[in-house]
Amino acid sequence: MQRVLVMEERITGRMDVILGDITALALDAIVNAANTSLLGGGGVDGAIHRKAGPELAIQCRMLHGCKVGQAKITPGFRLPAQHVIHTVGPVWNGGGAQEDALLQQCYSEALKVAVANGIKTLAFPAISTGIYRFPADRAAKIAVEAVGAFLTTDRTIEKVTFCCFDAAAQQRHVQALAEYSDHG
Ligand code: ADP
Repeated sequence: MQRVLVMEERITGRMDVILGDITALALDAIVNAANTSLLGGGGVDGAIHRKAGPELAIQCRMLHGCKVGQAKITPGFRLPAQHVIHTVGPVWNGGGAQEDALLQQCYSEALKVAVANGIKTLAFPAISTGIYRFPADRAAKIAVEAVGAFLTTDRTIEKVTFCCFDAAAQQRHVQALAEYSDHG
């Protein structure tokens, strides 16, 4: 029992929630909530492309798109982050189209790409909760559970930050993290 508790503390200690603009973070990587074309869009995707500069779109064009639930990496160019990991969240369509599993996969695939590239610190936006309309509470729980599950199997990632763009999103992630540490 004692050992389980120590383990859980170590996992949640590697997750963090902040309120802010993900494009300002000087981490090994930031994650982009992209679309399947990877050619840029609105929301956080637009903000990342604007700050990274035109080199990012040029590099993205060479990746030939990305499927929902998959992840691909580029340099960060003019961003303070070293890399951008682009993942494509599911569009919410009522919940019957594997949206939960696909959102969970976005987090785990992005983390796999991070580990494969030696990335130790990275931040996620609240994938799919903007233009893609995924219910935000449900998405926050999936995000924390997916990252928590990954960190139990990985020893290389030092810190995963949930970068929330407004206070309500921050509150949802703090709550999801508290529930995760209570119930595992
Ligand atoms: P999606 O198409 O996956 O829904 P959006 O970019 O529309 O992606 O929204 C995803 C989340 O990113 C939303 O919660 C939105 O508030 C947030 N967001 C938008 N801009 C930023 C930013 N600069 N930094 C962090 N989060 C952002």
